[in-house]
Amino acid sequence: MTPPAEILRLRDVTRGFAEASGLHLALRRVNLTVAEGEFLVITGPSGSGKTTLLHLAALLDRPTSGRIWFDGRDTSVLGDDELSVLRKHELAMIFQNYVLLPYRSVLENVIFRFRYLEHDRTEAVALARQALSRLGLMGLEGRPARRLSAGEMQRVAIARAIVRPPRLLAADEPTGNLDRASTNVIMEHLAGLHRSGITILLVTHNEDLLSYATRHVVCRDGTVEE
Ligand code: ADP
Ligand code: MG
Repeated sequence: MTPPAEILRLRDVTRGFAEASGLHLALRRVNLTVAEGEFLVITGPSGSGKTTLLHLAALLDRPTSGRIWFDGRDTSVLGDDELSVLRKHELAMIFQNYVLLPYRSVLENVIFRFRYLEHDRTEAVALARQALSRLGLMGLEGRPARRLSAGEMQRVAIARAIVRPPRLLAADEPTGNLDRASTNVIMEHLAGLHRSGITILLVTHNEDLLSYATRHVVCRDGTVEE
């Protein structure tokens, strides 16, 4: 059997942010390789660099130094346009606080994922309905996002992420604001996506969720340890 292909590789990745006191290193010389099909759970204290790591993995940000390969391509030599093509077609991110359009309907929030893609409106609506139905959100399509519960908002954010299935999904504390029942619902959806072949990177504070992981790493003060 051939081993699963590598989808993501970080080599000596450092990300610094300029601050009054100098350059603050959110990540320092991180090395991490993720194989296609992994469900990687990332834990670690607040401020240890988890969100910074996910944003780099989802190619939403670039390292200050070091290199990131996605699907064998060195992203440091790709221009912003090429990166955005990869982001559109291969990656999706579930942000820490959903990042929905509060006054837009649930359906419009999911369709938003198609804004830079070549789908006509009818096709986008049909795909959005499928995703909403998969997440048990039919019936809420017309409701403005601001009038949803936290669990529903998170399911809309997932529907938006998967309406066009990515190869890698990065989820930043997607159950952080949810009760246990909603947490289980979200995790079962993520597990289903993982079974369908999507590689998942999940940041969480909830040790119970380690049962979903195929591998676990810990962020500590800008470093990543197995
Ligand atoms: P975590 O998600 O583990 O709580 P973050 O990755 O959000 O940690 O942040 C790691 C460190 O980097 C923190 O000290 C944070 O203040 C800093 N940081 C993150 N993003 C920025 C930014 N855009 N500008 C300045 N500092 C940042
Ligand atoms: Mg964070």
